[in-house]
Amino acid sequence: MFRKVTASLLIIVLCLALISGCAGESAEAKPEEKAPAESNTQETDEIAAEDEPLPDTSLPVEINEGTNSVSYPYIIRTDFATWYISKADMELMGEKEYFSGLEGIIGLADEDFAEAQEVFEGYLNEPVPPVDIYTDFSAKTEVAHSGRPLGAIYRMSDRRIFLYRSWMQASFSLLHEYIHYLSITCADLGLESGFWAEGIAEYVSIFVCKNRLIRSINFSLGEEDVAFYATKGVCNEDGSFEPKKYYYGYSARMHIEENIGEEYFSVTGYTMTLRDSQQQHPLMSSVSYFEAASFLEYLVENYGKDTVFSHLDAKQEDFESVYGKDFGTLFLEWAKYDLELCETLGIKLN
Ligand SMILES: [Zn+2]
Repeated sequence: MFRKVTASLLIIVLCLALISGCAGESAEAKPEEKAPAESNTQETDEIAAEDEPLPDTSLPVEINEGTNSVSYPYIIRTDFATWYISKADMELMGEKEYFSGLEGIIGLADEDFAEAQEVFEGYLNEPVPPVDIYTDFSAKTEVAHSGRPLGAIYRMSDRRIFLYRSWMQASFSLLHEYIHYLSITCADLGLESGFWAEGIAEYVSIFVCKNRLIRSINFSLGEEDVAFYATKGVCNEDGSFEPKKYYYGYSARMHIEENIGEEYFSVTGYTMTLRDSQQQHPLMSSVSYFEAASFLEYLVENYGKDTVFSHLDAKQEDFESVYGKDFGTLFLEWAKYDLELCETLGIKLN
């Protein structure tokens, strides 16, 4: 079913690769750099801000009085986020198109963020500060991309989400990145491994939350792709693409012998080749994003949310003491269940 690599599917794969970037970064936190309004602000910015009218948008735009006002002259505050408006992106897209895109997603983002906070209720260090979100569609900020085709990242060092490429990409990636912010920075869950960091971000954003953002763009798929996946049993009765079924199907493929040799993105952020050793003796570090998300759903359903959320620091050797079974046994038990689930749901794997 996933052999048909269309342009839109490619976007999905790249996004999933890119989000791994956040897990691999140092967990070392740097104090938030919010400079006083009067300090370090360059004279030219002050003149520009006073002389130029605010952008023509219904959104509550404010002048950015921080030290990064050259690149980000405006900010927009919502209940859950502070959006930094990129000067280069406004020039790249045109001011009207830039704000039109943001107007389309900013409300959905707040609704999604609110829902995500509810999922982590009881685990968050209150109050949760609004997250800083920067657009960098023009790739002109200081963020090091390591040459990878990133779509978005959550940068732990300064607690910022960076959105690359486009507003559609933003809709695709934003909730995942926000869950990194919640689960890594706003809670003490001990998230260090890519398996748990990416697993929880994928599980909560795709399996638990409604994810209004990603549904608003139909998972970034075109009509032709959705029609194709409908023939593979990956759509809902109303014809809409169902991300959960896609995850179940992709995961199941990882456990079929004939797919050995296929490439996939692992939770540790690397492109890997599927080996029979991973199918027979799975390692946490070699699991795909799709498997991690589906496996977490299985854990929560069978062992309870509290058990899983309280042990997001578990290493492979810790599974026996937490779940009563070693990782390999439990993972293969889930894989068997997943294959059966696909058959029950009518998801075609080839
Ligand atoms: Zn991620």
